[in-house]
Amino acid sequence: MKIFVTGGTGYIGSHTVVELQREGFEVVIADNLCNSRAEALEGIRQITGVMPGFERLDLTDAGATRDFFARHGEVDAVIHFAALKAVGESVHKPLEYYSNNLNSLMNVLASMREFGVRHLVFSSSCTVYGQAERLPVTESTPRREAESPYGNTKMMSEDILRDFARVEGEMNVIALRYFNPIGAHPSSLIGELPTGVPNNLIPYLTQTAAGIRPELSVFGDDYDTPDGSAVRDYIDVVDLAKAHVVAIRRLLEGRNRQNFEFFNIGTGRGLSVLEIIRAFERATGVKVNFRVTPRRAGDIEKVWADTTLANHELGWKAVVPIEETLLNAWNWQKHLMQ
Ligand code: NAD
Ligand code: UDP
Repeated sequence: MKIFVTGGTGYIGSHTVVELQREGFEVVIADNLCNSRAEALEGIRQITGVMPGFERLDLTDAGATRDFFARHGEVDAVIHFAALKAVGESVHKPLEYYSNNLNSLMNVLASMREFGVRHLVFSSSCTVYGQAERLPVTESTPRREAESPYGNTKMMSEDILRDFARVEGEMNVIALRYFNPIGAHPSSLIGELPTGVPNNLIPYLTQTAAGIRPELSVFGDDYDTPDGSAVRDYIDVVDLAKAHVVAIRRLLEGRNRQNFEFFNIGTGRGLSVLEIIRAFERATGVKVNFRVTPRRAGDIEKVWADTTLANHELGWKAVVPIEETLLNAWNWQKHLMQ
């Protein structure tokens, strides 16, 4: 079985390609390398013993995307990771975000229709829930108006996919709503590439532990949570990668119940920023210099997933303990500094 992975040299994509190849799938990646490096391919080869197919391609280019499908039209399914993902940047560059994330999706869908590729797994996000009134969030928790253009591209993409699957009866789509993906492959051969000053907690934390940043700011300790710091559901990137493999199998084996399905992909457990810092220190033996600062604008207080649907329907469950995930993140940080 041959799978086309867009954004496959990126953070989550590269880990997913590893899991696909380990399960015997043939992979061909398309990525324009706007937020990743071709070296990820070598990391994938070293882990799995197989070099995935790769083409440098901008999916906003409809003609180039179509040519790609014309050359690889026999693919069995697509996993669409390619997107711009920096929430803060999206507020300042809304057109770039709408244009990149929506046009690339529509070009992929148009080519899938033309070349008869019927199965798609899409990267969505728990951002579609915003601050839910009741926790944990289930798939029937209502979506809320997006806080950023990035979040809005995920809402709009889900809507496009639902409408597309409704009229294209042969098309089957699974959207995975990721909670907070963190960590790196235990081999330290692939992981998240830092670009400038990190916005996300874990890369900021590991850079602080490594002495690259003087201190980590804990954004707020006055939330309505047990220790006052904000709570998220941190999902190990390898666990997350495996969710894509089971979603692909569900589609290929025709076990999906509807043309358009979506699943929460998290651990089902919320951890606070302070709990993460303590878990990191326990796992690595390295102290993290931190200071509590005011809340970050736009942050929600707490969110974690109800993963019952993914557990039962996909037969998938997160298994990597948080300490192991944080140790892998730390080893990846050390690898980057070699
Ligand atoms: P990433 O930036 O590491 O990977 C995305 C890849 O897509 C990059 O390699 C980039 O070069 C490529 N890309 C972007 N636009 C492209 C285009 N027009 N043509 C070809 N390639 C293009 O990000 P990631 O963290 O691996 O995220 C993967 C997906 O998961 C994205 O859709 C993201 O929005 C979604 N997601 C990520 C998170 C997270 O916290 N990392 C959370 C929820 C959802
Ligand atoms: N956070 C923090 N300090 C940082 C970065 C993040 O305290 O330097 C907090 C942030 O306020 C949120 C959590 O860590 O509560 C996760 O933030 P991240 O940006 O990683 O993901 P988000 O949930 O915002 O998508």
